Amino acid sequence: MKLENKSIKQLRDTADKIFNKYVVLRDGQCMYGKIYGGCSGVLQCSHVVAKGTCSSLRYDEKNAKCLCLKHHIWGWHLRDVEQAKKYVDWFVEYYPERWEYVQEKKAEYKRDRTFRITKDYYIDIIKKYKAKIKELDVK
Ligand SMILES: [Zn+2]
Repeated sequence: MKLENKSIKQLRDTADKIFNKYVVLRDGQCMYGKIYGGCSGVLQCSHVVAKGTCSSLRYDEKNAKCLCLKHHIWGWHLRDVEQAKKYVDWFVEYYPERWEYVQEKKAEYKRDRTFRITKDYYIDIIKKYKAKIKELDVK
């Protein structure tokens, strides 16, 4: 189906899928496990600032990292703030610039409520990350 004919929900699903694929290919391994080991489960895309908190960061690659299922769901997303803290500490220690960047973007998003998602927005995201996947495959 042509992108233009998809519903906004279908476009979002496609954009999520492509973005997830790109982040997994880009990092190629669980970035937390790379340092600490103990990985389990499939590799997936994990957001630093949650998608629900800040939609403008949903498809920002600086806001995404590859984690294995275990370190994503039973690590980064632990409900227990104390237990989850070591994952945040890891990210801040290894990627301080990206951490600062996403915090700034989040503050900006909260200040400026004009960010809107349209079908064209999703189509641009899909095209952008499809091209980036192609670039990675070439290398
Ligand atoms: Zn892992």
